[in-house]
Amino acid sequence: MICYDFINKYIRDTIKPNSGILAELEEYAKKNHVPIIQPEVARLILILGRLLKPSRILEAGTAIGYSAILMAQILNPGGKIDTIERYDLMISLARENIKKAGLHDVINVIAGDALDVMQCLDKKYDMIFLDAAKGQYPEFLPEVIRMLNPGGLLISDNVLYKGMIADDKLVVRRKITIVKRLRDYLSSLCNNEELETTIVPIGDGVAISYKK
Ligand code: SAH
Ligand code: MG
Repeated sequence: MICYDFINKYIRDTIKPNSGILAELEEYAKKNHVPIIQPEVARLILILGRLLKPSRILEAGTAIGYSAILMAQILNPGGKIDTIERYDLMISLARENIKKAGLHDVINVIAGDALDVMQCLDKKYDMIFLDAAKGQYPEFLPEVIRMLNPGGLLISDNVLYKGMIADDKLVVRRKITIVKRLRDYLSSLCNNEELETTIVPIGDGVAISYKK
């Protein structure tokens, strides 16, 4: 938690809760410690998506399919989501949940390592959501920039990593490499000529980048 707990609690008690399958998946994630996006991050993605009206979305890190099912709401009619996951159990849970949500024609779960898969993809996307393997974000970036349409958005989750990114005192030893990589990543995002980036301190930290 990188924000004051009382503020997070207030926000979470105030914004409208999800119902149906999203509420069920939130329950499942809580019980089974699956790190799905937090409610305030989910709302931010929904609002950005309403403005952008993407036809094609790419996600790295499907887990149980929660964020993919959420993002299906912001797709243009006929739009599609590709989402990459490397962990077999998550792949089957996600496919099951996506089917249950009636979205199997809309969301395509791609099994594999996000970097390997991205290097093979030759499609273009209007929105790319990174929520996997934080230490690999710097390697994802050239692929993401190549695949993102002008006017598109890159949303990167967990970029403040429990606050460690902003304060050395919070860094635990075994996380030093990830912290260094995330700092490099944020610096690349903010200094990239093709991108306009801000970093929002909600959830675990979200970077939002617009491709010019
Ligand atoms: N986006 C999901 C949560 C993703 S949690 C949601 O909000 O609903 C992160 C997921 O990324 C985990 O399921 C993990 O198995 C997967 N992951 C981590 N590194 C990966 C990689 N290099 N390639 C593909 N998936 C990866
Ligand atoms: Mg995340």
